[in-house]
Amino acid sequence: MSSFRALVIERRDGRQSVALKTLSDSDLMNGDVSVRVTYSTVNYKDGLAITGNVPVVRRFPMIPGIDLAGVVEASSHPDYEPGDGVVLNGWGLGETHFGGYAEKARVNGDWLVPLPAGMRAEEAMAIGTAGYTAMLCVMALEAHGLAPSMGPVVVTGAAGGVGSVAIALLAKLGWHVIASTGRANEAEYLHGLGASEIIDRAELSGPGRPLAKERWIAGVDTVGSHTLANLLSMTRYGGAIAACGLAQGMDLPASVAPFILRGISLLGIDSVMCPRPRRLAAWQRLARDLDRDKLAAMTTSIDLAAVPETAEAILEGKVRGRVVVTVSN
Ligand code: NDP
Repeated sequence: MSSFRALVIERRDGRQSVALKTLSDSDLMNGDVSVRVTYSTVNYKDGLAITGNVPVVRRFPMIPGIDLAGVVEASSHPDYEPGDGVVLNGWGLGETHFGGYAEKARVNGDWLVPLPAGMRAEEAMAIGTAGYTAMLCVMALEAHGLAPSMGPVVVTGAAGGVGSVAIALLAKLGWHVIASTGRANEAEYLHGLGASEIIDRAELSGPGRPLAKERWIAGVDTVGSHTLANLLSMTRYGGAIAACGLAQGMDLPASVAPFILRGISLLGIDSVMCPRPRRLAAWQRLARDLDRDKLAAMTTSIDLAAVPETAEAILEGKVRGRVVVTVSN
């Protein structure tokens, strides 16, 4: 394939536009592995990149898409050969390097992970950065020594992508999961993923006290701001919150009281520059610990042309669970 379809973001006179275009191989950026992209996905960050609400894209023109899955077409990297199934999350894809919303990508082979055995490419993108980040959160809580027998875990942004995968993973691992959502109408969906209790996110989104009644031993927070501050103030002695998101805000209006009086910990989670060994471990765990039927239940599919409208919708909190983008078959 010398020409291929790609979604391209351009910026002129401070205004950003996005359109489907036909590009050729010579337009691709440098890299030692060429991939035929079969599937991608829409994460919150893709919404930020495409709308330009936050300066995620740092080079124009840009093919957005922070995730891709596909098949190696050509490789001079020692680990990959034509026909291999591969997955890529982050490393600046869709920010500084052409990303997943194109039928073709040329990338640094060190960024790739092999498609786990027994996992289909569309399942890998149903997981995507959101699901892989949920797994990194779970692994961080485990590395902290926390276990289901010690008490409940809270998941915020529950009906979103990271939240949905986190609930499914934690429930399968035996945790009592408290799901915090603004969408009461998604109660059946959240119970179906494995949530034991559902709370209204309004309980957590306003200014709180430095210390409050202890409610959980662990948490996965995708929301930040007052919600994260309240999560910390409600964590039981010795517990921890894995923080990965900012859907409510970047700020953290908290006090040191939970740290110095209850010995609780705040675990920062970054998926983009996460070192390769931890990525490989996360993908192996996802292959093992994520119920595929639950993954299917949280996933909808769109084609490349529908990405811009879905990008708007995810920022408005209107997307439930995960979205797979069919790029080429
Ligand atoms: P989604 O949009 O799918 O989920 C976010 C959810 O947060 C929404 O579904 C909603 O859940 C809740 N929410 C939205 N707005 C607000 C608000 N104002 N106050 C409280 N809750 C709100 O996004 P993703 O799951 O893809 O990503 C979640 C967050 O994690 C994002 O901030 C993203 O940038 C971040 N992230 C960070 C990564 C990292 O490497 N650190 C990697 C991946 C994601 P509900 O309707 O249930 O209330």
